Amino acid sequence: MIELQNVSKYYVSKEAGEKAAVRNINLKIECGELFVLVGESGSGKTTLLKMLNGLIEKDSGEIVIAGKNSRDYNRRQLRLNMGYVLQQIALFPNMNVAENIALIPELKGWDKKRIRHRTLELLERVQLPPSYLKRKPSELSGGEQQRIGILRAIIAEPQIILMDEPFSALDPLSRLELQNLIKQIHSDFATTIVFVTHNVEEALKLGDRIAVMKGGMLQQVGAPNTILQQPENEYVQRFFGTADSAVTNNRAAI
Ligand code: ADP
Ligand code: MG
Repeated sequence: MIELQNVSKYYVSKEAGEKAAVRNINLKIECGELFVLVGESGSGKTTLLKMLNGLIEKDSGEIVIAGKNSRDYNRRQLRLNMGYVLQQIALFPNMNVAENIALIPELKGWDKKRIRHRTLELLERVQLPPSYLKRKPSELSGGEQQRIGILRAIIAEPQIILMDEPFSALDPLSRLELQNLIKQIHSDFATTIVFVTHNVEEALKLGDRIAVMKGGMLQQVGAPNTILQQPENEYVQRFFGTADSAVTNNRAAI
């Protein structure tokens, strides 16, 4: 579904000179996979994710999406077909919930009735009552806002959803609920999801496969169990060594 061949991105700064934010990444993400990119802050996760939907231009390498080179896509089309959820939630504060959710379907030319119908269906799915449609984002809790952010990203059924630390700012309970929601959405819609996090427990819980990044480079790509049981290097071992043992035991038992 997504293939990266030797993809790099460099930044030039006065202090450090030219520095690779992402270096020689080769990676294949399969159709329907929930793929997690995990790494410390500054390891290049956001840069890599934004190169997938063209928000950041790569300096070298190739990105192939659904069999077509990213260069051959019309940028707008590419972005409309990729849902995007950020940590900073980023709902439009001046629009109510219904208007926020309707944005992409409207750009895609859906009629009002279809948008309304689908919005109500999805709202029920995340256990929010229809009365929320008229509320402004400021009248919602952080967890509720992020639920709407997720609905906004999935309503038009994009083939790919990119998520950049979407739950980092939430309280533990909301985070848990939304992690479960993502798993459910992923299995119901068979969407390909690329999910970025710095949290190892979250990576282990969500990922079909996990890619571990450090200093712009991939350290290991594999299923959670493989990474736990056969870490490719000391860094990966140490990084996952910080995981809550309850999660690791749970994983090992599967
Ligand atoms: P992560 O999302 O894993 O925290 P980023 O992809 O945001 O990491 O950043 C990777 C590296 O690239 C960091 O060292 C960061 O400082 C650097 N970087 C990111 N964006 C820019 C930019 N616009 N200009 C210069 N350096 C940048
Ligand atoms: Mg980031």
